[in-house]
Amino acid sequence: MRTTLRRVQANADEPHRVVIIGSGFAGLFAARRLARAPVSVTVVDQTMHHLFQPLLYQVATGILSEGEIAPATRDVLRRQANASVILGRVTGIDLEARTVTSRAIDRELVTSYDSLIVAAGAGSSYFGHDEFATHAPGLKTVDDALELRGRIFGAFEMAEIENDPQARPAWLSFVIVGAGATGVEMAGQIAELAHKTLRSDFRHINPADARILLVDAGPRVLPQFDERLSHKAADHLRQIGVEIHLNVRVTGVDQSGIDLVTEDAEHQRIEARTKVWAAGVQASSLGALLADAAGVPLDRGGRVPVMPNCSLSGRPEVFVVGDMMSLRDLPGVAEVALQSGRHAAGEIERRLAGGTAPAPFRYRDLGMLASISKNFAVAELGPIRIWGLAGWLLWLFVHLTFLTGFKNRISTLFHWAVSFIGRGRAERTTTVRESLVPVPGDDQLHRG
Ligand SMILES: Cc1cc2nc3c(=O)[nH]c(=O)nc-3n(C[C@H](O)[C@H](O)[C@H](O)COP(=O)(O)OP(=O)(O)OC[C@H]3O[C@@H](n4cnc5c(N)ncnc54)[C@H](O)[C@@H]3O)c2cc1C
Repeated sequence: MRTTLRRVQANADEPHRVVIIGSGFAGLFAARRLARAPVSVTVVDQTMHHLFQPLLYQVATGILSEGEIAPATRDVLRRQANASVILGRVTGIDLEARTVTSRAIDRELVTSYDSLIVAAGAGSSYFGHDEFATHAPGLKTVDDALELRGRIFGAFEMAEIENDPQARPAWLSFVIVGAGATGVEMAGQIAELAHKTLRSDFRHINPADARILLVDAGPRVLPQFDERLSHKAADHLRQIGVEIHLNVRVTGVDQSGIDLVTEDAEHQRIEARTKVWAAGVQASSLGALLADAAGVPLDRGGRVPVMPNCSLSGRPEVFVVGDMMSLRDLPGVAEVALQSGRHAAGEIERRLAGGTAPAPFRYRDLGMLASISKNFAVAELGPIRIWGLAGWLLWLFVHLTFLTGFKNRISTLFHWAVSFIGRGRAERTTTVRESLVPVPGDDQLHRG
């Protein structure tokens, strides 16, 4: 394989060069904040899109298409003349030479910066059991969502053609590990699929026989929310047919099921072909590289401790923002990401204008929302607690407002109408490659 090394050279009359790693919430909002600044902005990402992660579960369960929640970054920034976009996975950051090395297929690119914003986000954490990932994919990327869509709809298909009545229940069992917002949303949507969308579609199985199990090591669902909302959410999940298993730890995941241990040290085995991992988060491995260079230890989630203005200790020209940043216990949520991205960009602009004293990042908490099923969501906005239909209407409004791109909002609204007014799912298509069907007796996954 031939590797081409190209260096983006510094040039005397070139404006201040800002490189942003990551086109997620933090990276994109940082780039946009710099639209009118006297800088050149280069956004490097391993994907070609900006992903609206909070709606990934709707792609996985056939409500939305991937394009609706992941517009091309290049398209989003097309009118921002000072911004360019580079496809590539960042493999190295040289803080001394002030360069970022990225790779796309056989091309290696070294890009120089004057200021760097690192916003590479986080992936799933299997708490030291990465082998679980094969059979229990996480939900962090478009690839994950499409893989899960194939597995979920594929499991109903396999149940339909399964001749052995003993083997059929495992195809109709879905285990979601992790009862935070993502787990709860996935469980709610699979329950709606089984009980509503697929109700009349099969001839040999009744999709409503499906078991949807939500398991968590903690004592309640939605632990980030107020306890009352947790209980409301749990009650609603049970009403729509989700089994909730709390205070249980996952000890094994394989092709045909999952092993658990309860708080009384009792071992349990659940036969389930489809598993979803929504339990843990681990910041990008680029964090370790930066923490090493700055001589600071990573926190438990692999996040990089930063100075109050989001810059790296001893490196005022480098900022770490969003899910990679460890600052005052701020949670890994979209609002923290976009506000910290904007803040870092503002710091760069302010410095270029002659400002010297760093301005600390102040987070404006806008609250939390989780949608469980059609017409039911919980919302926590400061002291205000909202649930049920009112929560769901608020959820609808907020998500529509925050989606990137007018075209996406229109088509998303249409698909929501299909799903929420009717019971259909417009996006059930999977490719043969995405329909990952585990082959009995083979521990590997068979693709197509
Ligand atoms: C399923 C799910 C549901 C969620 N729901 C909610 C919710 O309801 N409300 C809420 O507030 N938050 C929610 N979140 C959290 C929220 O989405 C994140 O906090 C937010 O996306 C973090 O933004 P970020 O820019 O830091 O990282 P990301 O959005 O993850 O973006 C990181 C970017 O960096 C790129 N990247 C990573 N490594 C490299 C590399 N080495 N080289 C080049 N590019 C790289 C990635 O491709 C990605 O584009 C949810 C997250 C998930 C996964």
